[in-house]
Amino acid sequence: TSTAATPILTIKLVLLGESAVGKSSIVLRFVSDDFRESREPTIGAAFLTKRIIRDDKVIKFEIWDTAGQERFAPLAPMYYRNAQAALVVFDVTDDGSFHKAQDWIQELHEKVGDNIVIALVGNKIDLLNIQGENSNRAVKEAELQNLCKRENLLYFEASAKTGENIHEIFQKLGQKIPYPQ
Ligand code: GDP
Repeated sequence: TSTAATPILTIKLVLLGESAVGKSSIVLRFVSDDFRESREPTIGAAFLTKRIIRDDKVIKFEIWDTAGQERFAPLAPMYYRNAQAALVVFDVTDDGSFHKAQDWIQELHEKVGDNIVIALVGNKIDLLNIQGENSNRAVKEAELQNLCKRENLLYFEASAKTGENIHEIFQKLGQKIPYPQ
């Protein structure tokens, strides 16, 4: 199957998370297999599409990035409207970004309801140093497990920098969305 074929399913996916956790970088890695060290607001294009193959059929993601708006004001209702999937991103070395991720999950429940597949993504795992007590890992495994169970989330740890797990996130999320009748 070639991705040039007509998609059998189009999934609107929104990105949420504190500024600088790597939302735009995750999209850039997924869509263009590229990474930039410096922050370039221009890479935060508001809307990108990408086709992937699932079960020998083409599915298409319409990816809505906040393009930095999350810093300034509540996101517009059209951002969430008809979203079938969400990536809520935090930085695995930054506890504050994890707490912010929980706020975004609540916001999704309020604005979209339960009819959305949510993946929590702990990004920047390339920055983790040693394991154990002195690890710079900011969030405890048990806390993550509780949250994911309670909120029915998929969970991934990834790095937009190395590319680790980035394609898997979209592939697994895509599997969760039913084909249209
Ligand atoms: P956004 O504001 O959430 O869209 O975050 P950006 O994608 O603009 O990324 C913020 C900064 O973090 C940039 O300097 C990126 O290069 C950097 N960054 C993003 N993902 C990673 C990652 O996986 N590892 C590391 N080390 N840096 C990252």
